[in-house]
Amino acid sequence: MGDAATTSGYQLPVFPYIPPPELRGERRRHKVAVVGGGLCGLTAACDLACRGVGVVLLDEDDTVGVRGASSRGIVYAQKTLEVFDRLGIYRRIAEKGVTWSVGKVLADDDVLYSFDAAQGSLSKQPPFINLQQFYIEWFLVDRLRELPRAELRWRNRVTDIALHGDHAALTVETPDGGYTLEADWVIDASGLASRIRQALGATLKAEMGEDRWCISDVRFKKTLPAERWTWAKAAFNDGRAVWQHPMADGVWRLDYQMGANADPKAIADPETVKDRLRRHLGETEVEIVWAGPWGYRTQLMDNFRFGRVFFVGDVAHVMNPFGARGGNSGVQDAENIAWKLAAVLSGAAPEALLDSYDAERRAAGAHNIHVTTRTIRFLAPRSPFEHRLRDAVLDLGRRFAFARALVNTGRLSQPFDYAASPLTTSGGGAVPNLPLTHADGTPGALSDLLRGDGARLLVLCFPGSAAPELAEETARAFACNGEVGRLPVIRGDGLAHLAGAGEVLVIRPDLHVAARLIKPSTAALRSAIDRALAKEPR
Ligand SMILES: Cc1cc2nc3c(=O)[nH]c(=O)nc-3n(C[C@H](O)[C@H](O)[C@H](O)COP(=O)(O)OP(=O)(O)OC[C@H]3O[C@@H](n4cnc5c(N)ncnc54)[C@H](O)[C@@H]3O)c2cc1C
Repeated sequence: MGDAATTSGYQLPVFPYIPPPELRGERRRHKVAVVGGGLCGLTAACDLACRGVGVVLLDEDDTVGVRGASSRGIVYAQKTLEVFDRLGIYRRIAEKGVTWSVGKVLADDDVLYSFDAAQGSLSKQPPFINLQQFYIEWFLVDRLRELPRAELRWRNRVTDIALHGDHAALTVETPDGGYTLEADWVIDASGLASRIRQALGATLKAEMGEDRWCISDVRFKKTLPAERWTWAKAAFNDGRAVWQHPMADGVWRLDYQMGANADPKAIADPETVKDRLRRHLGETEVEIVWAGPWGYRTQLMDNFRFGRVFFVGDVAHVMNPFGARGGNSGVQDAENIAWKLAAVLSGAAPEALLDSYDAERRAAGAHNIHVTTRTIRFLAPRSPFEHRLRDAVLDLGRRFAFARALVNTGRLSQPFDYAASPLTTSGGGAVPNLPLTHADGTPGALSDLLRGDGARLLVLCFPGSAAPELAEETARAFACNGEVGRLPVIRGDGLAHLAGAGEVLVIRPDLHVAARLIKPSTAALRSAIDRALAKEPR
């Protein structure tokens, strides 16, 4: 999508190529093969390995990030951070990244409104951490190298796939020649130009955007607050939009809207970039870490599953990056398919559970495309009428609160609500990763109860239940791996926000509500658990 115009670059790690055993004539059947070691493939592999599922990951490259390209994704939202907490890399992200919660939306010199996403947040994780995407990928690789069930294969390019009754066969090219890799299940996370998607003839709908942007990753001396500032229009960018975000290593991401079909070479010319930065920052001493042009597109596959293959991340959906929904929703794809595969492979759920991956995550992809498309319509109006409407909203927004809600410089990533999912009895929303105290007095969080092999459902029974076998003095968690087993009583201030007295919550392995039982009974609970695992009703 874009070429690097100027780069002093980042130093990325290089991982070793190890000749795969299949090249020595060994024949293996892998449980799960993940194609693509970007953000989403690494997350899926890490999640599976953390659940005790054997996984092999193949990547055509031998590093993280994209050589010569920008930081790409930078904003990681709470839900994603909760996933990374469970996978064991959250602490490194928090240490390296910039934690923030305050955002400001401006028009020229006027602040139209500001928000603090930390207000009302119940999770152990903050609303957002900004960090260059390749660092996240790097931490995931390090974590995967610690996990005994994971194997990483660098410089292994997948060029073709054949589907058989009980497995898939991938054609793989390496520096030492080609081989065939067999796996029960395949997760394709090879990004927007997937060879697998092409080979299978899987269809999608795509639309190219006309709007062009110039991304600049820069360092400068001026001190700016660690906040997200977005200008719907800025005089220093000829009345067009601008984004300003802090990242790690003292680098800032400054994105400038350049208008429809702007010449990519011209907008990323080093002198032009410096001049733009001078006008924005009023500072002459800037170090350009990376600058380049970007154009946007939307893309959505017609089905996120093709037999034994599941499509995850950019291969399945591409959206305008307003609101940081691309990578964040890809991480949710990865978590979604990982727990379902773990449940099926451990025998806790039937294969029918895997069908819900498309139902849930394609709906999420379509929703995110819808939301981000509305942002681009606001930022880049398509007709004189839309233009006048947009400017009127900005003018009104300076004076009246009601109009501020219409100013759309990106709706930040939120976990998708699975209310309409076939797995949901009632509810569907995400549960925050509440801090709580375990029975032995140690502090922790809700997601601690979900760690371990396979895929656990949690059943939280709140005090005062009418069903005596469910009644407890405070919330009690049951971990279900097919069977219901008791966990000790847990306590946490935030628990009271989840449900009322006497209610029972069934929480999925991805911290979404599968059922909220207001008048619980053992039969209703059993039915909700069966439904969450796509089991036939008993
Ligand atoms: C400018 C910009 C800003 C963005 N900002 C944000 C943000 O703030 N927050 C956010 O959440 N998202 C953001 N995104 C989106 C985010 O970067 C992507 O959604 C994310 O990279 C998708 O990850 P992925 O793993 O699906 O694909 P990719 O990151 O593209 O990874 C694909 C991997 O597959 C490998 N591969 C490809 N073909 C093969 C093959 N044949 N065989 C083996 N391996 C192969 C590649 O080497 C690569 O490692 C942004 C994107 C852009 C462009």
